[in-house]
Amino acid sequence: MPIYSNTQQNIAEQLSTEKINISKWMDWKWQLRNSIKSVEQFESLLGIEMDEKYRKKIKETLRKFPLSITPYYLSLINSEDYSNDPIFIQSFPSPKELDISPHDMEDPLAEDKDSPVPNITHRYPDRVLLQVSNTCAMYCRHCTRKRKVGDVDSIPLKQEILNGIEYIRQTPVIRDVLLSGGDPLMLSDDYLDWILSELRTIPHVQVIRIGSRMPVVLPYRVTDSLVAMLKKHHPLWVNTHFNHPREVTASTREALAKLANAGIPLGNQSVLLAGVNDCPRIMKSLVHKLVENRVRPYYLYQCDLAEGLNHFRTPVGKGIEILESLRGHTSGFAVPTYVVDAPGGGGKIPLNPNYLVSFSTNKVILRNYEGVITTYQEPDSYESTFCDRKCADCNLQLYLNDAEESRAIGIEKLLADHDRTISLVPKKNERMERRDSER
Ligand SMILES: *Cc1c(COP(=O)(O)O)cnc(C)c1O
Repeated sequence: MPIYSNTQQNIAEQLSTEKINISKWMDWKWQLRNSIKSVEQFESLLGIEMDEKYRKKIKETLRKFPLSITPYYLSLINSEDYSNDPIFIQSFPSPKELDISPHDMEDPLAEDKDSPVPNITHRYPDRVLLQVSNTCAMYCRHCTRKRKVGDVDSIPLKQEILNGIEYIRQTPVIRDVLLSGGDPLMLSDDYLDWILSELRTIPHVQVIRIGSRMPVVLPYRVTDSLVAMLKKHHPLWVNTHFNHPREVTASTREALAKLANAGIPLGNQSVLLAGVNDCPRIMKSLVHKLVENRVRPYYLYQCDLAEGLNHFRTPVGKGIEILESLRGHTSGFAVPTYVVDAPGGGGKIPLNPNYLVSFSTNKVILRNYEGVITTYQEPDSYESTFCDRKCADCNLQLYLNDAEESRAIGIEKLLADHDRTISLVPKKNERMERRDSER
C-alpha cells in the first residue's frame, strides 16, 4: 500500500470541507481533530450499514466504553470483510463488552492499590509507571485500563505530574521510569520535553521508557521534531503495541525508522486477542515484520481479566502454542516473552512450553523444538561459592560500588545463602492460624 492511498484520500474528502492533500492527511493534529467518535460516522466512512437493532446495542456499549479512532487507522480496515477485520475488531465496539463475567475486575492489576501518589504505580522494586496522559489517539477495545477511558479525557496538570516526579526523586531505588497513560505521545513535544528534562535531573533515574501506540494508530505523530527532542534524553527506550501484521504499513515503517535512526531501542508489546491474532501464522508474520523494522518483540500478553474484555480472552494454551511455533523455528530475538499479568497485582509472570523433561544428580534431560530429546551432562566438580554478600572477600570480582544494595525478595531470597528463610507462607494460612491458636 502506498503512503497515501485512494481509500485515505476518500476518507479525507468526506471528513473535510476544505481541500485536502497528503500533507494535511499526514498532519497528526488534523488526524486527532478529525477522529471518529460516532457509530454513524464510522459506518458512513467505511461505506457499510449495520442493522438498526445492532446499532442500538452498540450505542449502549458506547455509553460505558466510548469510541474513538483516527482516520488513518480506520483507513486500514477492509470494508469488504469488516466484521472479521483485525483493525475493525480492535477499534469498533461490540455489545459483548457489556457481558461482565463474575471473574472480571474493574482494576484487574490493582494499579490503583499500588499507587503511592496519584499517577504513579510502584509495583516492582526498582521501576515505576508514571501516567502522564489520560487519553489516546485510538481507544483500543481491549484496553486493560478501560475503566478510565474517556473518564477525564485529558492531560494531567503540571502540578500533578510534578508530584509524581517528586515521588521518584525521593525514592532512590527507582532506576527505570516508564511513561505511560493513556498515550504519552498525546502530549505536545514541549510538554513531554519538560517532563523528560525534569526526570533527567534525578541522578538515580538511569533509563526512561515511553509506552505508546502512536506508531500503530497515528504514525504521523512521529515527526522529525518529536524525534529530535526525544534523542536529547537518552538512554530512552520506546515500546509500542502492534497486534497484527496488517498494522505494519508504509507509514508505520517510516515512523519506526525515524525512532530507530535516533538511536532509540524499540520494543513491542502485543496482546493475545481472540479473533485478531490467536494464530501461530499471524503471530509469526507479525514478529518477522517487527524485526524487519528494528522492533524487538518484547512481550506477548495474556488478555487481562478487565471488565468488557471477556470476548477477547483465549485460553493460556493458545499462547503456549504460539510460543511453541516460534522458539527454534525463527530468530531468537523475534520471540517475545509470553506473560500473564497477575490479577490482583502480582506483576508479569512469564510462561513457556516445558523444555525440561527430567533430571538426575548429574544429568538433565531436555527436549528441543523439533521434539529431539537430549542429555546435558552436569559438571562433576562445581564448587559453588558461598555468598554472604561480602563481595570484598570473594574471588569473583565485582567492584563494590557496582553491587547495588537491594534485599533479596521472594524466590531469590529462598535461594540465597545469606538468608535463613526456608519457606514463604501466605499471610492467611489455615494451618498457621491453627498453630497460633493452639499456642
Ligand atoms: C509492566 C510493568 C512494569 C515494567 O515491567 P518490565 O517487565 O520491566 O517491562 C513496571 N511497572 C508496572 C506496574 C507494570 O505493569
